[in-house]
Amino acid sequence: MIKDNGHLTQIEDIEFAVDVFPAFRLFKSMDFKLIVVTNQAVVARGMIDEAGVSEINQYILDEVYKNTGCKIEKFYFCPHHPNANIEEYRENCECRKPKPGMLMQAAREFGIDLSQSYMIGDRLSDVIAGAKAGCRTILLATGKHEDAPIESDAFDLEIKPDFTCSNLTEAVEIINKTRS
Ligand SMILES: [Zn+2]
Repeated sequence: MIKDNGHLTQIEDIEFAVDVFPAFRLFKSMDFKLIVVTNQAVVARGMIDEAGVSEINQYILDEVYKNTGCKIEKFYFCPHHPNANIEEYRENCECRKPKPGMLMQAAREFGIDLSQSYMIGDRLSDVIAGAKAGCRTILLATGKHEDAPIESDAFDLEIKPDFTCSNLTEAVEIINKTRS
């Protein structure tokens, strides 16, 4: 959704990807619940606190609603990192993607059938988390994250995305064509 211009720690730096609003207008007419799941190791690094991340997430949610009328149900974020310099966030948690913890939590909280759901993301960690949760997966191949992922037991490189496309609008089209 947001252009990857490095670590996002303040609202002023938020830049929506060009096709985000058109894509969300399409989402509005489909009966999917929209949930965002994001790794925020910037918290573990001490660059921003959890309240700051929540504020940024709320801003994104509000902007999407204002511009498209489409409501994102909730943001889940993982503040942890195995090598965090802040001790309370230094752990091998179950929520950091590629683990599926946040998706499982969302499914419990919102009564979501993961097998009828799609996970869209621009990293392999998104695809793996989605596949492990039992979702169909769509990789946005932006060309930005093609380097090998950091080493982690949770990375299962046998997992491939079900679909690949180059932007969010194409992802919505894929969902429209393949949903049951
Ligand atoms: Zn976590």
